[in-house]
Amino acid sequence: MSEIIKTEAVVLSKLNYGDTSSIVSLFTKEDGKFNAIAKGARSPKSKYSRIIDPVNYLSIVFYKKESREVQLISDADLINHYSIIKSDLEILKYAYAIIELVKNLMAEHEVNARLFKGLTRILSKLNSSKEKPEVLFGRFFMFILKEVGYEVQTEKCAICSRTLEKDSSYYFNFEKGLICGKCQEQAVDIYRINMELLQYFRCLKNNEPLENFSGSEPQRAIELMEKFVTYHVQGFKGIQSLKSFN
Ligand SMILES: [Zn+2]
Repeated sequence: MSEIIKTEAVVLSKLNYGDTSSIVSLFTKEDGKFNAIAKGARSPKSKYSRIIDPVNYLSIVFYKKESREVQLISDADLINHYSIIKSDLEILKYAYAIIELVKNLMAEHEVNARLFKGLTRILSKLNSSKEKPEVLFGRFFMFILKEVGYEVQTEKCAICSRTLEKDSSYYFNFEKGLICGKCQEQAVDIYRINMELLQYFRCLKNNEPLENFSGSEPQRAIELMEKFVTYHVQGFKGIQSLKSFN
């Protein structure tokens, strides 16, 4: 038995299938992440040919059959194709990095409406290009870590829970996250961070505006979060989109 479901979706990736079809990975509001086939999607006559593409935000109808690994798309309409993102390679790189995180960190059919909303919101913000893409990506990174159960605490040491005070020393531990100077003595895989970087992590986490950063914090923060994910998620080898574009 199959049921017909209408939902909103963001296209995570797309592969050619047969002569004219595509198989896409979708992250949907109602049913989480799954693969689906869009029959005839690559035929120029198909209305799907220009809308079923990575990063696009769609409204879709699909036939869901639990026993099937690939679901069948029966209709799709475009909600947003983020034209500014697509016109700027630097912004596009971070949009791909965002969908890569969703692909890597979400289990199949795991529903998370808050994450879905956060995803479409960050894509809109990237598309408005009011804030630097690497900063928006950092904000989404902190957000998704929390949503998937690997929250990085920015106020307290992740080991002893002491408040991370100003003018003391802090470290990023790839297993626990931010820790204090005392706890680093027993920890391995640590990276010393300065007050600016701690402040930057706090701004990302609390979604506060950014002021007075020297410029290296966004990249440093991304590298540390990548190492953190590598530690926790088996098979994760860093964000490929951020490598291949350089
Ligand atoms: Zn501590």
